[in-house]
Amino acid sequence: MTITETCPDCRVVLPRFDGPVHRYLGASPSCWAMYAALGAGEPPIAPGPYDALLIDAYATQHPGAPSNQAIQSVAVHLLTLYGILECDVPIERAIWLRTRPLRDGSQHKHERFTWLTPPSFADSLKIADIVAAPTPQARAASVIEYVRNIWSIWRATEHASTIVQWYERYIVPERI
Ligand SMILES: [Zn+2]
Repeated sequence: MTITETCPDCRVVLPRFDGPVHRYLGASPSCWAMYAALGAGEPPIAPGPYDALLIDAYATQHPGAPSNQAIQSVAVHLLTLYGILECDVPIERAIWLRTRPLRDGSQHKHERFTWLTPPSFADSLKIADIVAAPTPQARAASVIEYVRNIWSIWRATEHASTIVQWYERYIVPERI
């Protein structure tokens, strides 16, 4: 019998894996290992329009426990998803979106954002669903669905207005 573990954040059940976890993301060792392998091209994914957003979707699906780093991580990755998926920021500017909110020197970076109690991701798509798709092209399509799915779950929470406010405060002042 295979011993399994449940990811505390995305709730995926995978064979237990004795390995490292991320410093502040909340993923189980097996979920984190699967994500890290996918990022390293195993299994391979055909190029797709949202490849650069995989990290943003995964980080916001795995918020972990409240800490300064976790709060900031969830915030900047949500702002990146919002900017690209809803505000027509070109995907090439994803890195700019992730760093822009942290450059405003008028306020200490740990005071800009607050902890957003995460929604349930029990019924969301998982990294394991991308990995399970049969071909590189199918996995590419699955990445798009995954990114949209994770954002849509956050978008439907009571935090949506907070995300928009943060965007207007920390992103918009520097015109794109
Ligand atoms: Zn997970």
